[in-house]
Amino acid sequence: MKVTLFGVRGSMPAPLRNKEYRDKMVETLSLFAQSKHAATQDVAGFWKTLPPRLRHTAGGDTTCVGVQSNSDTNYVIDFGTGARTLGDSMVSKILAYKGEYILNIFITHTHWDHIQALPFFKPMYFPNVTLRFHSPYPDLDARLSRQMEKEFFPITFHATSSKKEFILFEPGDVLKFEDDRVQVEVHPLKHPGNSYAYKFTEDKKVFIFATDAEFTGEDLEYIRGIAPFFGMADLLVLDSQYTLDESFAKFDWGHTAYTMAVNIAHNWKVRNLALTHHEPAYNDEKVYGIWEDAVEHRNALGASKLKIHLAREGMTFTL
Ligand SMILES: [Zn+2]
Ligand SMILES: [Zn+2]
Repeated sequence: MKVTLFGVRGSMPAPLRNKEYRDKMVETLSLFAQSKHAATQDVAGFWKTLPPRLRHTAGGDTTCVGVQSNSDTNYVIDFGTGARTLGDSMVSKILAYKGEYILNIFITHTHWDHIQALPFFKPMYFPNVTLRFHSPYPDLDARLSRQMEKEFFPITFHATSSKKEFILFEPGDVLKFEDDRVQVEVHPLKHPGNSYAYKFTEDKKVFIFATDAEFTGEDLEYIRGIAPFFGMADLLVLDSQYTLDESFAKFDWGHTAYTMAVNIAHNWKVRNLALTHHEPAYNDEKVYGIWEDAVEHRNALGASKLKIHLAREGMTFTL
């Protein structure tokens, strides 16, 4: 199973600003001028020495995840602005596909940062595509239709060429598919207006996507209680929007502090934790600083088996 993160920003898109781009370039060029690689013009060798915050940008698009099974079937979680890139990448496959292309989709919740790129998701405009939405929301069709009413978008949801199907998928259900070994389960999360985690299992490998979710120090018993669902995941992509101070100031806003995310992943014996739903006000320096602090926190916990990743746009995990 391959998991690709197409959008990792929380709440609203936050593209790299010119000032930040310039600052990154100036710092990188200054480091090059001082490095031993400058004499031999070994740019590729120098590049490898750069810290991650200069080699990458975490990315500005909001939540969207692509899951590709070992039998090459695609699944989608959420339609934040990252879904535009995912949709574009699927077009050639759909054009080459003979017959009806069924795309299974999972929606965590319908806050804007999780649905706003649906109108720009190109597969929705192909008549041989069926978008099959799975979620615990009985009114999901109405919710998605509402954001594409004529006051907000030139074409309505049901006027687009694809077929749409809505399947109620609730905690306790286990969803299986014809011709694919992936199975999916769903679990509620604490978030204003609700949100749901999705768990994908294939050939004993487990991927769990859990945003938007608020876990605090008051939830320790609850966290232990839901370990049977979340425990032992090979990859957990978890909400970690806040610093610890912010999580106190923004209690009940529906997001988790990164230190708490590390505690939880350790408690659940997760193998790989990816911190996601980055605060839009944070630049790369701050976000990558959070990652470094999270690794330090893990070391302080003695959780040496837990690998911590910073969710980055375009990042792929192969399980
Ligand atoms: Zn969100
Ligand atoms: Zn939300």
